[in-house]
Amino acid sequence: MVRIGAHVSSSKSLDLVFDRGNEIGAETIQFFLSSPRSWAWKERSEREKALFTEKRGKFGIRPVVVHSSYLFNLASGDENLRGKSIQGVLNELRLCEELSIDYYVIHAGKGKNLTDEQAVENIIKSLEFIFSKINLKNTQFLIETLAGQKGEIGKTTQEIKSLIDPFKTENIGVCLDTCHLYSAGYKINDKVGFEEYINEFDQLIGIEKVKVIHCNDSKTPFNSRRDRHEHIGEGSIGLTGFELFLNCEYFKNLPFVIETPKEGDWDIVNMDRLRKLIHTAPVAQ
Ligand SMILES: [Zn+2]
Repeated sequence: MVRIGAHVSSSKSLDLVFDRGNEIGAETIQFFLSSPRSWAWKERSEREKALFTEKRGKFGIRPVVVHSSYLFNLASGDENLRGKSIQGVLNELRLCEELSIDYYVIHAGKGKNLTDEQAVENIIKSLEFIFSKINLKNTQFLIETLAGQKGEIGKTTQEIKSLIDPFKTENIGVCLDTCHLYSAGYKINDKVGFEEYINEFDQLIGIEKVKVIHCNDSKTPFNSRRDRHEHIGEGSIGLTGFELFLNCEYFKNLPFVIETPKEGDWDIVNMDRLRKLIHTAPVAQ
C-alpha cells in the first residue's frame, strides 16, 4: 500500500515530528533538520537523539524523510557559497545516518548566471566531494525533480540522469514532485502524458530509482517554470493527476508526502483527498 503523509515542523525538539505526524494521521513524515532560512547548524543533544529514536517506533510512522535546507546550492559558481552548501549537506547527512533517517531529499542546485552545463558540472563536483567524505549506509540520498525556476537543475529527466549516473555505486535515488514536474512541462495529469513521463524516466534512469513522491498541486499554469504549491485538487494539476500517481503499479509501496500550504486543518483535508483517490480491489463475493 502507498503511505500518505506530510511535511511537519521539527521546531523545538526533533522527536516532536512524530507527535505532530501522529496528530494529523500521517503514515510517513518529512521534516527539516535545520531552519530552512538560516545557515546556523545546531548540534543535537544525546537526549534529543535518544528521544527521537524512542518515539520513532511508537506510532508506526515510516519511512522517515528529511528535506535539505533550501539555502544550499551545490551548483553555485560562488566558491564560498558552494563550500558552505557542501558543509551544510555533510552536517545534515551525518545526523541522518546517526538517526537512521530513511531518505534525504535535496534540491540539487541552481545555476543563476551559469549555463545549465556548468551548473550540472558544479553539482557533480560537489557530490563527488560529499560522497568522498561520507559512506551512506542507513540513509538514501534522493535528488528531487525541480520546476526550473531561476536556473534550477533537475527540471528534465535528462538532467536528473546526468546527476545520478556518475554515482551509480552510491546510495542514491530520486524524489518526484508533482507540482515541479507539471511546472517543468510534464503533462502528468492526463493518462497519456503520465505514461510518457514514466516511460521516459524508466528508459533513462530506471523507475525503481523513485523512492519518494511529493504530492502538491500547483498554483501556476502548466509549464510555468514556477514552484508554487497548492492544496490537492485546488490547483492546475487537479485530482486526476494524483489519482494516476497513487494507482501506478510502480509506486504502490512508496511514501507520498504533501508539502501544501500550512493553513488550519488543511494537512488533514489534503491527505484525506489523496486517500480517497486510491483504488481498492473489489471485495470478492
Ligand atoms: Zn523539495
